[in-house]
Amino acid sequence: MNNKFTIAICGAGPTAQTLALTLIKRGVPPSSIVLMDARTHEQARNDQRTIALSFGSQQILEAAGAWPIKATEIHQIHVSRRGQFGRTLIDRDTCKVPALGYVARYADILEPLSQALGQFQPQLTLLRPVKVSAITETERQAQITLDDQRVFEADIVVQAEGGLFGDQTPQTRHHDYQQTALISMVRCSAPIAGRAFERFTDQGPLALLPVDDAYALVWCVQPDRASGLLALDDRLFLGELQTAFGGRLGQFTAVAQRSAFPLGLNAQTSPPTGRCIRIGNAAQTLHPVAGQGLNLGLRDAFQLGRFLSLSATPAALQQFFAARSPDRQMTMQLTSRMAQIFTTAGDDNPVANALQSLLGAGLGVIDVCPPAKNWLAEQMMFGKRD
Ligand SMILES: Cc1cc2nc3c(=O)[nH]c(=O)nc-3n(C[C@H](O)[C@H](O)[C@H](O)COP(=O)(O)OP(=O)(O)OC[C@H]3O[C@@H](n4cnc5c(N)ncnc54)[C@H](O)[C@@H]3O)c2cc1C
Repeated sequence: MNNKFTIAICGAGPTAQTLALTLIKRGVPPSSIVLMDARTHEQARNDQRTIALSFGSQQILEAAGAWPIKATEIHQIHVSRRGQFGRTLIDRDTCKVPALGYVARYADILEPLSQALGQFQPQLTLLRPVKVSAITETERQAQITLDDQRVFEADIVVQAEGGLFGDQTPQTRHHDYQQTALISMVRCSAPIAGRAFERFTDQGPLALLPVDDAYALVWCVQPDRASGLLALDDRLFLGELQTAFGGRLGQFTAVAQRSAFPLGLNAQTSPPTGRCIRIGNAAQTLHPVAGQGLNLGLRDAFQLGRFLSLSATPAALQQFFAARSPDRQMTMQLTSRMAQIFTTAGDDNPVANALQSLLGAGLGVIDVCPPAKNWLAEQMMFGKRD
């Protein structure tokens, strides 16, 4: 087998596959690209996450030839704060888009990407399951060593090996929010078609994303509370959820299997110096508040595809890094602030309490202030634009 490639991509998650398709769409020969992933296709499909994709991500996936996907449209996002009157409703009509976003299972995002890539195999090389165990660089090339001892050479190595905060090696910017995301699917007595909810509670944000006539739950709480919630039987769990969320969707009636993910920010913020670059979760793993992680990763993939299709060189990586920095930093800052501001209050923290009240009121202000609401919606749909 050929062991020399122009571009080697570590990982074949959604970010990696979008990059490969973007490169090919822009004229890079499939035979010059290799992807390597530690999971089998089936293992990747079993990932339980449900993801809110922005309107901007839909456009990127469409350009890559991986749209339509099986997804539920978001027409409105309702943002509220438990114990406060402030709330804001972001609507697709005000933003003049067909949908504010789309909710899809991880597997349903991967499927059309894999099908689109399949058209270019076997010219394109996709190795799985293989784990990249080392990457080394010389002035002229990079070397990738797999755990089965095979060695590949490439002009450029893209690290798109993603991962979850709890499993990653700490990067230059690292913060543990001391929160755990508890995820599941729930049913309720009065679903509202197309409406997603983001509710800020004392322990962290609680999101309900519409999936057909059910909701994907992402409930961020302190780790010991997460363990307690995981241990409850379904009836007691639904009671706790009802108390935290309130009655906007009637009664919660059923919950599926629950799983938990530790949450933190882990980002590589130093510019590249050689032939390797990180994108997606490998570059920045974020708190899932506002559902920005994969959306940011897809913007990385799209831009890197653009730069590398012009020239697969270390200089192109530096240009890419500079071009992506404003969006990456703005999104990290926004999600970090949102994740932390509502969780630092308590009887012994009057400053945080005052800030919470102000922001609670602020949500109401945002609702009657179209420029603020539109800015927030634009940032979530497209990221920071120059
Ligand atoms: C609870 C939760 C909810 C979320 N909700 C949202 C949301 O609503 N919207 C949103 O945009 N984002 C959301 N995210 C974030 C989103 O899941 C990630 O940003 C996204 O999956 C990152 O994609 P990726 O392709 O970069 O990495 P991954 O999806 O992690 O894929 C990486 C791939 O690399 C492979 N790999 C890893 N190590 C190696 C190795 N050494 N060698 C070879 N292959 C390797 C893995 O097997 C995997 O297939 C959420 C995250 C969590 C935890």
